[in-house]
Amino acid sequence: MELLKGKVAMVTGGTRGIGYAIVKKYLDNGAAVALCGSRQETVDKALEKLKADNADYKVIGLCPDLKNPSEVESAVATVKETFGRLDIMVNNAGISARDSIYDYKPEEFSGIMDLNVTATFHCAQAAAKVMKEQGGGVILNTSSMVSIYGQPAGVGYPTSKFAVNGLTKSLARELGKDNIRVNAVAPGVTRTDMVAALPDEVIKPLIATIPLGRVGEPEDVANAFLYLASDMASYVTGVVLSVDGAARS
Ligand code: NAD
Repeated sequence: MELLKGKVAMVTGGTRGIGYAIVKKYLDNGAAVALCGSRQETVDKALEKLKADNADYKVIGLCPDLKNPSEVESAVATVKETFGRLDIMVNNAGISARDSIYDYKPEEFSGIMDLNVTATFHCAQAAAKVMKEQGGGVILNTSSMVSIYGQPAGVGYPTSKFAVNGLTKSLARELGKDNIRVNAVAPGVTRTDMVAALPDEVIKPLIATIPLGRVGEPEDVANAFLYLASDMASYVTGVVLSVDGAARS
């Protein structure tokens, strides 16, 4: 099935984990994709891996500083120059930290907010300008299960994801008139590199709290991003879609 045939997407944090799974899912569904990463080296590695899977994939790699609005604007301009348009903007790059409030460094809090929230704003703004001009588009944000329940340490990360939900719902209301849908996906614990490296004594009790009895795979999350990007979700906007196996912590 090619649910995104003829569409053009840009995915931040696309070099590994959930972002890479989204890039691959979009390519397999007929989209052309610009994947973004924080370092040229990891961007090149991801491109190499994709091209080894399928030499016909229409994919380019970019490395903008997402905290710098003019770099974001020029990355979006590059996508438009290369593929002619931008239909889907996925704001997926994100970082976290789990320090206690008693040790939390203010600069760590700002660093998390800068990438998870402000960079998402920069990307949404640059994408919305192009999408409005071309008559519509889709903006998708990666939130988290902790945006609904909070978490017992590392207050910056859940705070940033609550803000991502606010940005999502507000932009959905503002941009509906321009035919731009805005949604978020809130993954639970997902088997990215970090989770795969956890020892059994950490992962087993964690799994015991998840009603579906397993952690999520990046592909579980990418499937939600595929649906929301596609015309199958043509009347869905302002939604935060949980993909967490009904986990609640
Ligand atoms: P990951 O650490 O495997 O990948 C993070 C991606 O973000 C990488 O591609 C990296 O290049 C990019 N990135 C990191 N810092 C950056 C920076 N300063 N500038 C630009 N790009 C930067 O992470 P992941 O687990 O795949 O997470 C992706 C998203 O999913 C994040 O927003 C994260 O908060 C969210 N999330 C993850 C989980 C999980 O269990 N893995 C659960 C809920 C939400």
